[in-house]
Amino acid sequence: MDRAFDFEVCAGEGEARAGVLTTRRGAIETPVFMPVGTAGTVKGIRFEELESSDLDARIILGNTYHLWLRPGIEAIKACGGLHKFIGWNRAMLTDSGGFQVWSLGALRKITEEGTEFRSHIDGSLCFLSPEVSMEVQVALGAEIAMAFDECAPGEATQEEARRSMELTLRWAKRSKEAFEKLQGSVLPPPLGEGWGEGLASSKPSPLSPLPGGEGQSAESQTNNLRYQQALFGIVQGAGHLDLRRESLERTVEIGFDGYAIGGLSVGEEKHVMMEVIEEIAPRMPPDKPRYLMGVGTPEDLIEAVARGVDMFDCVLPTRNGRNGQAFTARGKLNIKNARYALDQKPLDESCSCSVCARHTRAFIRHLYQSGEMLASILLTHHNLAFFLDTMKRVRQAIRSGQFAKFRREFTEQLHCGLG
Ligand SMILES: [Zn+2]
Repeated sequence: MDRAFDFEVCAGEGEARAGVLTTRRGAIETPVFMPVGTAGTVKGIRFEELESSDLDARIILGNTYHLWLRPGIEAIKACGGLHKFIGWNRAMLTDSGGFQVWSLGALRKITEEGTEFRSHIDGSLCFLSPEVSMEVQVALGAEIAMAFDECAPGEATQEEARRSMELTLRWAKRSKEAFEKLQGSVLPPPLGEGWGEGLASSKPSPLSPLPGGEGQSAESQTNNLRYQQALFGIVQGAGHLDLRRESLERTVEIGFDGYAIGGLSVGEEKHVMMEVIEEIAPRMPPDKPRYLMGVGTPEDLIEAVARGVDMFDCVLPTRNGRNGQAFTARGKLNIKNARYALDQKPLDESCSCSVCARHTRAFIRHLYQSGEMLASILLTHHNLAFFLDTMKRVRQAIRSGQFAKFRREFTEQLHCGLG
């Protein structure tokens, strides 16, 4: 095995696919949901819980922008890379920082070279470019890095969206060049002790031998460095399908280990988002993972899987959990609602997570109303369990040829209301 990153599609139904993404830190079955760990932590939940059989998150996302500004790359390097620093031994994906900087709006200035912006922490002037983003992401050492892109607003005109897409393509080329140079110049960060623990229950692991592992010769290490990290390219083009198709074609020409659909869920209407996914996902290279960035609700995930997407990330389960909202098989539940004051049912009667096994809606509502931090912790745990379990059921359904039935039943139940 000469690669530390591989992807294989094992089953399909319509456009939906079930596969396995292999990284040096574990096998990840797809379609997969990646909890968002903005500042090196998935807010409100310990890593032990993420690794527990309840959740079993195989890969989490880290935000380059946040980690770069604080604690900073030198600190993370001095602590042995991101995995070691935060104490997470499973796989990670880092974004490029492009989207966060773009979200700063008036605080940033975009030029051909890159993006100049004011730090949201201390107001200092910072500069992020494809080269800087690659340097930061290589230092962080996640299994998957993302090309530095520019996102056009959801309502961008054809002209604005084209300008943004062309810039993203030039940045994609620069990202790849910088990334390849850096992959050849750094040693892989150590995996750390206990990596892969808790993965024993996964399908036979195609993990070994590991690049840079003990007992390998210097030569084999050098040969494997090229594949130390994977780099994904990002398709842009706002809601314009012709631009999206062109962006995909030209991004694939540059050549990446996987491809993402970016710039969705940024203010466009839902039907526009689904049209873009439907147009683009099935045209993406069939042998590479397809990642839909920053989307969405459980229903969005299932609809995107039906259109051929393999990977997702979204802050909804954690952010909404902190705001008192639970996702359930019968739709969203707002724990602030007085109707739950004496409710003895769990958040979701069909959920098998440890929160639903133990606590009632009445108690969690009481915690929330009292401003207890445990309310956020319990809601976050349940929401992540619901998202991760839904994806597990999606995978099983695709593998057994039952996805169409699953999708229909899931959607029907979602709209039948809370008991
Ligand atoms: Zn639950």
